[in-house]
Amino acid sequence: MFCRKYWFRNLVCALLVGLPTNAFGDDRPNILVIVADDLGYADLGFQGCKDIPTPHLDGLAKSGVRCTNGYVTHPFCSPTRAALLTGRYQQRFGHENNPAWLPEDRVAGLPHSETPLPSVLRTKGYATGCVGKWHLGAHPSFHPNRRGFEHYYGALGGGHVYQDGLKGSNEYTIPMDRNGVGEPLEGYITTVFGHEASEYIKRSQPKPWLLYLAFNAPHTPLQSTPELQQRVSHIENKERRDLAAMIVGMDDAVGEVLSTLDSTGQRDNTLVFFFSDNGGPISVTKANNSPLRNGKGSVYEGGIRVPFVVSWPRKLPKGTTFDKPVVSLDVFATSVALAGAANQPTEKIEGVNLIPYLSGQTNESPHETLFWRTGGGATSAVRQGNWKLIGKRGEAAELYELGKDINEQNNLANSDRDKVKQLEKAYEEWNTKNVAPLFESPKQPRKKK
Ligand code: CA
Repeated sequence: MFCRKYWFRNLVCALLVGLPTNAFGDDRPNILVIVADDLGYADLGFQGCKDIPTPHLDGLAKSGVRCTNGYVTHPFCSPTRAALLTGRYQQRFGHENNPAWLPEDRVAGLPHSETPLPSVLRTKGYATGCVGKWHLGAHPSFHPNRRGFEHYYGALGGGHVYQDGLKGSNEYTIPMDRNGVGEPLEGYITTVFGHEASEYIKRSQPKPWLLYLAFNAPHTPLQSTPELQQRVSHIENKERRDLAAMIVGMDDAVGEVLSTLDSTGQRDNTLVFFFSDNGGPISVTKANNSPLRNGKGSVYEGGIRVPFVVSWPRKLPKGTTFDKPVVSLDVFATSVALAGAANQPTEKIEGVNLIPYLSGQTNESPHETLFWRTGGGATSAVRQGNWKLIGKRGEAAELYELGKDINEQNNLANSDRDKVKQLEKAYEEWNTKNVAPLFESPKQPRKKK
């Protein structure tokens, strides 16, 4: 309610909220990168999901561009994050597996040869924060505070139990980390991440900021709260209900963050990316990647094509879709371009600045060809236009025409040998610049049946 006593203060606040510039006297956007963990392609309302209510993420999609052909660079957790933060294919520097939780291991983590995005943006006056799952090395030298983030709160491993006291592995039960100091988890982890992100957003303005908000939801263990369960009680299958409750929790947390952007007058000039780090693990949970084939761990579309939204109300159209391929590598290139750091670092950035494409400034495709490789070449994939080649070591290549066959069912390798050769040649050229994996993924204990 308007109060006469504070009319001058209210007037000043209103004017400040409406101002297009930050304290640096420029209009560079804040950059918020929200990453979900193991989220299925079809497990959000804006992706066609009918049984899980996700109003806040649907609202985010309506406020920007939904990329229907949005990819990550790897079908599982850590390698995707390595490419996201460096703007380079992770195979260039050997980060092709998940690092084990070994705090004494100086090798298993994001190599120090690479310059992470926050390190670059800091040189241009950005505040840099990270909230959530790290999973880029357990050794202290890999800590987010030593990889460019001025502020960090979260779980340093590859996942975490959702509330203190719940059962999990050593890695999943370590204390939460706040700038290098351990502390207990006070509450439901997804909700806590939403609060922490909101607080960061409030206190970092008016300096332009980068916030990397990496939920561990809805990665296993499937742990939610009675209140979240209640909101998806219409889902009969228990495993699906458990997953849905966690996704609803993440949607709530995203809602809090978006609401904070609104209430602090920052929504209009904040560039928000949202995507999942890989496809839904359909062999582990009841995630739904429909209509895509397979899921997490696979280079079929279900492992690498993910829900992908880019929203920037000031500059990008609202409620539209973009159907040409984009990739998580583009976050880096877009961010450094907008921050005025396009010439940094000197390493070869492999993504592109998406803004000219998403804003309709150009009708060209951001990428001619995209590549995937797992296990040092155990599996591989190339997408060029609508054609996709799948390679599996020791097996014949598979060729699919995604425009007509999004589910990758009709293998055309025998009927179009020229196309197979063309894509194999492209892959081989790309692969010559890769190195062998620097470290192996930890062995997973066999599940008890
Ligand atoms: Ca993941």
